[in-house]
Amino acid sequence: MDHVVLKNRRTTLERCEKFISDELSFFSDVSLYWKIYPEKSPLKSLTHYSAPGRITYDEALKGVYKPAKVGESFGPAWSTHWFRVQIEIPAKWEGKEVHLLWNSHSEALVWQKSKAVAGLSGDKDRISFTLTKHLKAKERSHELYIEMACNTLFGAGDSLIGPPDPKKHFTLSQAEIAVRDNQAFQLYLDFEIIIGMAKHLGENNERGNEAMLTANRMVNQVVANGGSYENALKISKAFLTQKNGESQHVVYAVGHCHIDTAWLWPYAETIRKCARSWSTTLTLMKEYPDFIFACSQAQQYEWVKEHYPGLYTEISKMVKTGRFLPVGGCWVEMDGNMPSGEAFVRQFLYGQRYFQQEFNFRCKEFWLPDTFGYSGQLPQIMKLFGLDRFLTQKISWNLINKFPHNTFWWEGIDGSRVLTHFPPGDCYTMKAQVEEILKTRDNHGDKGRSAKTMFLFGHGDGGQGPSEEMLERLIKMKDVDGTPKVKLGSPDEYFSAVEASDLQNLCTWTGELYLEMHNGTYTSQAQTKYYNRKCEFWLHDVETMASIAVILAVQKSYEYPSAELLRLWKLLLLNQFHDVLPGSSIAEVYEDAVRYYKDIEESSHNLMSEAIAALSKSKGEEARVVFNTQGWERREVITLPSGEMPTSPAKKKARRETPNVVQTDCNGNTIVLVSAPSCGLAPVQPCTPVNPASASKQAGGFCLKNGLVEALINKSGHITELYVRGSKRNALSADHPGNVFVIYDDVPLFWDAWDVMHYHLETRKAVDKLVKPATVVESGPLRAALQVSWKISDKSSIKQTISLDADCPFVKFETQVEWHESHKFLKVEFPTSVKCDNATYDIQFGHLQRPTHNNTSWDMAKFEVCSHKWADLSEYDFGVSILNDSKYGFSTARNVMRLSLLKAPKAPDADADMGTQRFTYAVMPHTGSFQSAGVIQQSYNLNCPLTQGLIHSGDSVLTHPGAFFKIDTQQVVLDTIKRAEDNEKALVLRMFEAFGGTTTATLHTNLPVKEVTRCDGYEEAMTDEENDILQVSGNTATITFSPFQIISLMLKF
Ligand SMILES: [Zn+2]
Repeated sequence: MDHVVLKNRRTTLERCEKFISDELSFFSDVSLYWKIYPEKSPLKSLTHYSAPGRITYDEALKGVYKPAKVGESFGPAWSTHWFRVQIEIPAKWEGKEVHLLWNSHSEALVWQKSKAVAGLSGDKDRISFTLTKHLKAKERSHELYIEMACNTLFGAGDSLIGPPDPKKHFTLSQAEIAVRDNQAFQLYLDFEIIIGMAKHLGENNERGNEAMLTANRMVNQVVANGGSYENALKISKAFLTQKNGESQHVVYAVGHCHIDTAWLWPYAETIRKCARSWSTTLTLMKEYPDFIFACSQAQQYEWVKEHYPGLYTEISKMVKTGRFLPVGGCWVEMDGNMPSGEAFVRQFLYGQRYFQQEFNFRCKEFWLPDTFGYSGQLPQIMKLFGLDRFLTQKISWNLINKFPHNTFWWEGIDGSRVLTHFPPGDCYTMKAQVEEILKTRDNHGDKGRSAKTMFLFGHGDGGQGPSEEMLERLIKMKDVDGTPKVKLGSPDEYFSAVEASDLQNLCTWTGELYLEMHNGTYTSQAQTKYYNRKCEFWLHDVETMASIAVILAVQKSYEYPSAELLRLWKLLLLNQFHDVLPGSSIAEVYEDAVRYYKDIEESSHNLMSEAIAALSKSKGEEARVVFNTQGWERREVITLPSGEMPTSPAKKKARRETPNVVQTDCNGNTIVLVSAPSCGLAPVQPCTPVNPASASKQAGGFCLKNGLVEALINKSGHITELYVRGSKRNALSADHPGNVFVIYDDVPLFWDAWDVMHYHLETRKAVDKLVKPATVVESGPLRAALQVSWKISDKSSIKQTISLDADCPFVKFETQVEWHESHKFLKVEFPTSVKCDNATYDIQFGHLQRPTHNNTSWDMAKFEVCSHKWADLSEYDFGVSILNDSKYGFSTARNVMRLSLLKAPKAPDADADMGTQRFTYAVMPHTGSFQSAGVIQQSYNLNCPLTQGLIHSGDSVLTHPGAFFKIDTQQVVLDTIKRAEDNEKALVLRMFEAFGGTTTATLHTNLPVKEVTRCDGYEEAMTDEENDILQVSGNTATITFSPFQIISLMLKF
């Protein structure tokens, strides 16, 4: 007889939830969860070896193992413990599925017959390893090794982003074998789905109510049948096999494991995280033939290849079947704001080349779910590599404004468009629960335009990616009336489906994808930012000089250092990972990062010396020369090595005519003004300045001036007036001086190193305590300079040299800060006299504008933005630019320009940025536009000083006429010169249109070029049609550029 009763929603739902609860405190004697493993038995033996570090399996076998037991603790943080696990399964379990249950509350890797087979982590999902699906008599004995790492998936801190606790220990709370009751397991999963539908389809949804009553009936059936699951399973099957109509939304579920290449753990641990997660994935793939796993970051593949060759062979096989799927095409998932344009190119070049070489495979989509904003130049760079699809979701983290789209065209600053998808589940580590599947459908911003979305499932960061439970749930939800259809698939299947039916419906978002959060990442870990910029330029200089040296072949034995440059690039690209360069990692990561940067510094300086030596014959008088690696002529002050005077043949004549052209600087070194041709070299011959610099005393301060610029500086080191010579217009505000350091309270809501909140702006305090007032230390004619120092607090101080060089249009500020603050943010501000609603910022291969006002919430949210080498505020015919050599944070509020200098976060690195910090910035007032005034070129000059070297004079190189490469317009920047990857007799030149306009430029070379063609990012030839913009005649190539267009040429010799 039926007992139909009126149901109360809350009590019914809660009854069903409690019936499957994993809470130990709630009715664990009746919960289905605790019946999944009804029989358990101890291990035969457990022994332990405390390893000296992250050792190999073969090394671990040689260890001395001592008895261990459940309940023991192991540590400290980051240490490794190996366990030999011997198992004798009871005979009575024959025919049953048997698991090892292991919970060390840390990460661990199971080794079986010398193969890494599965990762474990101390969370409820990941404590079981399947010993057998169906026990046979001869399979009762097992021996496993377990490699326990003393960290969790989020490192070894006491809170999510807290610094690691070096004393942390981990307790082995469970180590036993158990029978899994698969009926209980399946029923448990059915309950999860049906209860999920009951809860999340909502009270007014008919199907949701059906789900609630179905779950309740299932509980009744189990209870009424004395714990038998069969009738309940029949009910759930009947419910879950009711199908949707044709128009139902389709969710493409893609397996994924987002492994941060370093973050709350060092790089070395990431290698093991990959092994743990990917071995688990391969094991699961054997059971689930439709399961596809998307896996990014060539660097992680290369690590696994080196450290786990057996595992890598298995992975390679699955890549060939299309199931273990490389995605992204990048070396690592890099930061999306700060790498240079060329660094972005190399991420794709070396990433895609790796996948091509290893698997004969090129990724079809750019994959960057988790970085803190996306440069407006990324669409064009992606398309250089044939990538016209993009996946992320991070913009869903916006604090202020909800981004309106999930499936749309993203258009870059040059007009390139890529098909972009943000999985509307707003997550890249989903667990395949009903709630997430429903959110994916309901949160889609482009409903009606595209009835399909992507769904990335799998624990990240050592959670081992997708689990059996996730796959089972997704398979059960394939087509259940009321929920979206679920298809296990690949990103390619998803994008192809959108391309097949929805493209004409999609909206376009133009410009950068600015993340309204984590804006402190442009500033945190200043040393990392400093080295990033320097290394980008060091590698640029080496590639330029080595390219010229290899083509000139003065020294026939010289070879382009391809392998070493690739090694150095990989180190730099690695450090551009989206938690390293942004400054959001623990201290241990920055120890590695700085080591890699110093390696790049040392090796690139050696390579530069070798390239210079290769330009020199072995005979003749040795002379000092300067090299200009930029594509325009330069005339700059250089510092000669200590004790050295100019020795070029022109010295005596030059001295006789202009006795003051050599100056001793305040450090006792000789400085001279030299000129150098575009992309070429010249002997050090002191030039007579056209615009000599001078420093003079004035009432209340000093005047630094040359023929181009004049700055009045008070004794406090503040600029009170700033002029372009010949203009009476003061570039600075009449009421507020420039070069004023300001300090803010910087207490974000949670993400300490990541964030700066808009309310910090309300806490501005000027740094106005002078330690030493400004004094003149150099008075010209080549350099005029002042020195000044201030006190920030009892612990922190600033020293600065303010200088103006002959013939230079900017005033330079070389700065040293002793920084020992907590939760403070240091900036330097320049209140200008310029009125403009938008400021312009340098980005990769171009620039873009952002508002200086707060009209809308979208404008207000951009209170702190990313900028590269320069930022400019201009009105018609006049403006002010701030240049810098290693900073990335900037803000312009109305007329006030502020360069962000230092933050003082305490998590996840408790000592971030403490100590001595050095950086240089400059202010450049200009008439006309920043383009016509040469701001772009000057910013390169500040970042890329002329290089010096000694070569034998009288050589053909020195008498070589003019520039090796020259472009006839400043509108086009020759950014990169490198040897072609696959052709020893060819160079690749990368140029971009820098002003934001259309132009025709002529490139000239005096090297013996035989053929010039246009190439793509891979350095492969482009179509005849794409070559139409190029006309070649002898040693010149004339090219038509559209705004911000990047063009690469292949020059064959
Ligand atoms: Zn990440």
